[in-house]
Amino acid sequence: MAQERSPRSDQKGPFLGPLSGFGVTFQTMFKKPNTEFYPEEKVPTAPGFHGRHQLNRYPDGLEKCIGCELCAWACPADAIYVEGADNTESERYSPGERYGRVYQINYLRCIGCGLCIEACPTRALTMTDDYEMVDDNRAGLIYEKDRLLAPLEPGMEEPPHPMQPGSTDRDYYLGTVPDNTGAEPAERPDNTGAEPAERPDNTGAEGGSHP
Ligand code: SF4
Ligand code: SF4
Repeated sequence: MAQERSPRSDQKGPFLGPLSGFGVTFQTMFKKPNTEFYPEEKVPTAPGFHGRHQLNRYPDGLEKCIGCELCAWACPADAIYVEGADNTESERYSPGERYGRVYQINYLRCIGCGLCIEACPTRALTMTDDYEMVDDNRAGLIYEKDRLLAPLEPGMEEPPHPMQPGSTDRDYYLGTVPDNTGAEPAERPDNTGAEPAERPDNTGAEGGSHP
């Protein structure tokens, strides 16, 4: 037969039990409060925080996403939906043959694991430190390209537009293509402020910065 557990007061006695409880309260009274005044004061996220995703661009504004769906296949929560389409010479959104025509991430499903960004072959997909993804309806938490694409920076032009004269999709991938001002390709750090990680490509050539 199972032995009955004795009440806590029996272990420390009828007086010491309550006193040790008040002792914890007393000690806590002199500790510095750990109150965060969010949303008035925002605390910076930890380096490498997995927040909202971002679809990155090349320095001239073309999209890095090639619509390959590898991110969607890697996602354990089935949170990503991609539909690729063909670029044409008159309507080009990314270097190479294909681009992501439809790109959706369902933040009701996403668990922030980051497997999708590991799977992306062009480093089109990264994660930012934005954690303010709230809404009062389910559809509002399905983010599409209008909310995922990186904003245009100086020297970028909104696609569709042609690739830089004389360049190939490989030049874009290797990061040797300048922006539309003709300036040298700039190193773009990720949104964590951390140093970009070097990742070699499968050709053995040195990889560019992340994203
Ligand atoms: S972070 Fe994880 S769960 Fe979220 S979309 Fe990427 S792979 Fe899916
Ligand atoms: S984000 Fe990357 S992995 Fe996903 S479809 Fe675009 S290129 Fe492929």
